[in-house]
Amino acid sequence: MPCGAGPFDAADRHHLCTCGRPLLARYDWERIGAHWTRESLGNATRSMWRYAPALPLTDGIPPVTLGEGWTPLFSAPRLGAELGLSHLFVKDEALNPTNSFKARGMSAAVTRARDLGATTLAVPSAGNAACALAAYAANAGLAAQVFMPRDVKSPFIQECRLHGADVTLVDGLITDAGRLAAEQGRPQGWYDVSTLKEPYRVEGKKTMGYEIAEQLGWRWPDWIIYPTGGGTGIVGIWKACDELEQLGWVRGPRPRLVTVQAEGCAPMVRAFQTGAETAEPWVGAATVADGLRVPAAVGDILVLRALRASGGGAVAVSDTEMIQGMRDLGSQEGIGAAPEGGATLAALRRLVTDGSVASRDRVVLLNTGGALKYLDVLE
Ligand SMILES: *Cc1c(COP(=O)(O)O)cnc(C)c1O
Repeated sequence: MPCGAGPFDAADRHHLCTCGRPLLARYDWERIGAHWTRESLGNATRSMWRYAPALPLTDGIPPVTLGEGWTPLFSAPRLGAELGLSHLFVKDEALNPTNSFKARGMSAAVTRARDLGATTLAVPSAGNAACALAAYAANAGLAAQVFMPRDVKSPFIQECRLHGADVTLVDGLITDAGRLAAEQGRPQGWYDVSTLKEPYRVEGKKTMGYEIAEQLGWRWPDWIIYPTGGGTGIVGIWKACDELEQLGWVRGPRPRLVTVQAEGCAPMVRAFQTGAETAEPWVGAATVADGLRVPAAVGDILVLRALRASGGGAVAVSDTEMIQGMRDLGSQEGIGAAPEGGATLAALRRLVTDGSVASRDRVVLLNTGGALKYLDVLE
């Protein structure tokens, strides 16, 4: 924990640490590493649960799964050539259930919540987290309460209802949705799966890091470029770096992590540039990338630490640039990207232009979600 509290017992329910910051799960790597090898993965299941020993499972009880993870790492030769890069890759998270990487987090969090006896799960969301919770709760036979901004694009609302969730639309942003969800949920004992307010969504998301390392032959790329809202992607991938080192599975330098945000909502970028340890809330947040419309994040301190420790950076791009990025990924590589995915390509263009990324560097862009729920931004 950032504050040094704990240890806490994994058999209890946990949300935030007593200090008000996120709690992260810890494992006994010496014990796990004694029985678990990279070679054994040859026969492992083709989902994120291939890394089950590093995930919060209760012994003998199968996870709540819809086949999330083990997504392809495509090489992007045409875009690479245009940018002068010989090793450009796109990890395509659009191929997850409900079309985004949020599936990984919810698979782990719903598994854990079910095992701890929860019956109703609640989440405030900018869009994709709500869809993923709705699907995983349905799969587990649990109830889902989702809270989203009233102006969220309609496919997100329809998809949540398709999976049987109760949808509440809130005037304001995800932070306002979070306040309302907590207010309504507390007296009714709902299990809160808000971003980084319970320890297990990030456990699912760290498997993106495990997969990138495995897919590149247990070597890190030089750069991982990630669109950041609440920050679990960055925090999870950095946690994977730590754990794979403890297991001794990946040697050599860690990747530089780059956060991408929208110019209309860039609290982490501003904090990174001013050298601040935490991010001031962004006033008047506005962007077509719903997943990036997060004006304040409880995990800001962890994101900023990871960016700095990795020698990475933080870039804000305009909505026009991210939509161009969607079009380029779509037309040149056949990859259907959300605006958040398009934003990673826009950020890479900046980093190539300013000389940060060199032509031989190995670069991984995270396409965190698919294009289909966002088609209106192309009109
Ligand atoms: C939620 C979301 C993000 C932001 O992810 P964090 O890990 O919470 O920062 C990025 N892209 C898409 C498509 C999302 O749904």
